[in-house]
Amino acid sequence: MPGVTDALDRLIAAADVGAVPAAPDLEAVLSSTDAELMDVVAAAARLRFRHFGNRVKLNYLVNLKSGLCPEDCNYCSQRLGSKAEVLKYTWLSPEAAAEQAAAGVAGGASRVCLVASGRGPTDMDVERVGKTIAAVQNASPGVEVCACLGLLGEGQADRLAELGADAYNHNLNTSEDVYAEICSTHTFADRIDTVRAAREAGMSPCSGLIAGMGESDADLVSVALGLRELGADSIPVNFLLPFDGTPLEGRWELDPRRCLRILAMVRLSNPAAEVRLAAGREVHLRHMQGLALQIVNSIFLGDYLTSEGQAAKEDLALIADAGMVPLGLDGVRDDRAHEHRGPETAREAVKTRRRGAGTDRAPNA
Ligand code: SF4
Repeated sequence: MPGVTDALDRLIAAADVGAVPAAPDLEAVLSSTDAELMDVVAAAARLRFRHFGNRVKLNYLVNLKSGLCPEDCNYCSQRLGSKAEVLKYTWLSPEAAAEQAAAGVAGGASRVCLVASGRGPTDMDVERVGKTIAAVQNASPGVEVCACLGLLGEGQADRLAELGADAYNHNLNTSEDVYAEICSTHTFADRIDTVRAAREAGMSPCSGLIAGMGESDADLVSVALGLRELGADSIPVNFLLPFDGTPLEGRWELDPRRCLRILAMVRLSNPAAEVRLAAGREVHLRHMQGLALQIVNSIFLGDYLTSEGQAAKEDLALIADAGMVPLGLDGVRDDRAHEHRGPETAREAVKTRRRGAGTDRAPNA
């Protein structure tokens, strides 16, 4: 395994000329020591700032259809047989979806992701989603719409593009070598086919991964390089939320520093892609979320498909504290975040001590 300093030099040199990075160098990033962690973050940050400056794209999820999926993806709380206590409902009406989306746009989102559980849509579902796309665009002019409806059949990618979808999301999730260990009802190749079909139909391909499912460093590097080869424009990086009632229940194998190394590896392997901090960031990155913004240029605002995220206002404050600005909202909405961290709020946060030494109350320890 090469030392991380030399590996980082080679990865930056590869990025400078648009060359494919070497897998052993990417694995060196994942196995770097804690003493090397800031070097790893700094190298990834150089690429992040080179391509995206201090902008952060905010995305907002609307779960059009939740739970009761016939597929058996082990990581998913909506899978066949899941005992996880998640919301279960069938298709939201276009009006209800547009109302949810508008709340996200008002909060600063520039892309809305319309997601439905299931193996893939019927042709009737595609038409229904087309009505929802129209309703979302009508209620929130200028917003980008990404559809995420599972595996696409013949002609469905072209039809979604015609109906106004700007992007299509379908994650590869993990490496081809271990895909069969996380799902038996469809294959890695099925997923590749759908991402390719979306790209060929003219939609922006969005495809990402989930870390923390027992994969090796080589698996993570393999999926990151696979996403590069596929030409993914945006790459959501999810950290497993091991829901009780799913096969991966109790699998807690990530820590904040591991998450930073994974994000840096994805950035260094895909320098110009929109790398998005996705589900699990609050739980696994915790206090390191601000540092992660030095690597990623995109986050989901608010809640996820079946779990709650931190308050949207906290997300905006995180961005403002990092000296960054939500994409498309220069000087428009960041006032909301500053309001949260402004002098008045800061003054309220300074509390005179009334516990511990010199009092009858228990100390803060
Ligand atoms: S196909 Fe989608 S909704 Fe269904 S189990 Fe897999 S990840 Fe979950």
